[in-house]
Amino acid sequence: MSSANAQGIPSVDRVLTALGRVPLPRPLTARLVRETVQELRESGDALEDWGGWEGLMIRVRGRIDALFRSRIAPVINGTGVLIHTNLGRAPLAEGVARSVAEVARSYSVLEFDLECGERGRRGGFVETVLAELLAAEAATVVNNCAAALVLILGNIVRSSGRREVVISRGELVEIGGGFRVPAILEASGARLREVGTTNRTTIEDYAGAMGPDTALLLKVHRSNFFMEGFVQSPATEELAALGRERGVPVVEDQGSGALVRTGEIACVEHEPTVPDALRRGVDLVCCSGDKLLGGPQSGVIAGKADRVAALKKDPLFRALRCDKLILAALQETALVYLKALETGNPPELPLMHMLGLPVETLQVRAERMAGALEGSPGTVRIGKALSRIGGGTMPKSTLESVSVDLRPQGGSAQDLARRLRQRTVPVIGYIDQDWWRLDLRTVFEHQDAAATLSLREELARKGPCP
Ligand SMILES: *Cc1c(COP(=O)(O)O)cnc(C)c1O
Repeated sequence: MSSANAQGIPSVDRVLTALGRVPLPRPLTARLVRETVQELRESGDALEDWGGWEGLMIRVRGRIDALFRSRIAPVINGTGVLIHTNLGRAPLAEGVARSVAEVARSYSVLEFDLECGERGRRGGFVETVLAELLAAEAATVVNNCAAALVLILGNIVRSSGRREVVISRGELVEIGGGFRVPAILEASGARLREVGTTNRTTIEDYAGAMGPDTALLLKVHRSNFFMEGFVQSPATEELAALGRERGVPVVEDQGSGALVRTGEIACVEHEPTVPDALRRGVDLVCCSGDKLLGGPQSGVIAGKADRVAALKKDPLFRALRCDKLILAALQETALVYLKALETGNPPELPLMHMLGLPVETLQVRAERMAGALEGSPGTVRIGKALSRIGGGTMPKSTLESVSVDLRPQGGSAQDLARRLRQRTVPVIGYIDQDWWRLDLRTVFEHQDAAATLSLREELARKGPCP
């Protein structure tokens, strides 16, 4: 090796030249090569300790592949978790995705008024559609539900000159991904006024805690856990009435964005809907756009017209507003719901479809897949699975489902799982007592063939996982 130093370490250029074709652009590849060579140098190891030139190249290629695979790209979700936060929460409907692509490729009427040919209201259409859909006086949308809550709390605190937000101790929750209600409150400049106990809070607790510094009453949906037993909290109607009586707004963080009665689509618990909350008299409701609502990441806000108007005038609103692609996706998703209301059928969204899939259909698909895997090394079995809603919603609900389970011949289920994650279209399953399992409820039917091919090829592959 001509350009090697005392440790026998080749130069970055030499490694780059030897790599040949790689999936990443050259600057990124060079960065990874530099890092790897640097690491070898700093380790004090000789090149031979890393398996020589070959060993070094394997390591570099491994890094390049790993970085390439980490870009945002589709995967097959065989986890059975419908709203999988790590896998992008709700998939968009086909027609919705097409509309987004069209808007993305073109100029659009984002803030343009076609009537007068001048600057128009950004998001005006989606706000109208959402207001109608949610049976609200007005609605608007920001980046996500956490942002919606920060905006609402901050706005009410600043405009009222009062700082206290009254909330039940049973609702001081962590939703996941670091979303803790007390932290959000603090970030909004509000002061927490906890009332009641973890399991029981009464309307008198709220009333007793209210004073001249009370800015609002906050109700947070316990999305990702449930309490049973000696449990009590006041009805939303009571809370709304108390707020009205004292002239203090009542805000509900509904979380999931359920708009239809989930119990009518599948055998799952009833999730209170956004229109339910408004009907019960709260002033403002916020929810996520990409949970049960089945749209893009966004925070939908709905309620009293003057309250919504105040939020839109808040300087923070500009910082939290949504991109045009999100507005396009949300607008089309909301239209899907309105169409469903007309026909009386469930909204034609992937989430609703998956929720309603009968076990018999999944069984047929599993048998077809298992049939196509016959003769592969290892064991293939059709299993009974339990899908979950996920995304921190409806923790009590599971849905009976069907899975294709694999046990590789030689090597572990973990090895197989790793290999399947490294496919061009990664297949993500889960491991359960030495079986690698693919829950078909969250696999789109049009992905069955591709998934089967991946399973067959990876079962047949010998040797340890790279
Ligand atoms: C999920 C959830 C949030 C956070 O929503 P994002 O859209 O992820 O910001 C807030 N509140 C509740 C009750 C939730 O369930």
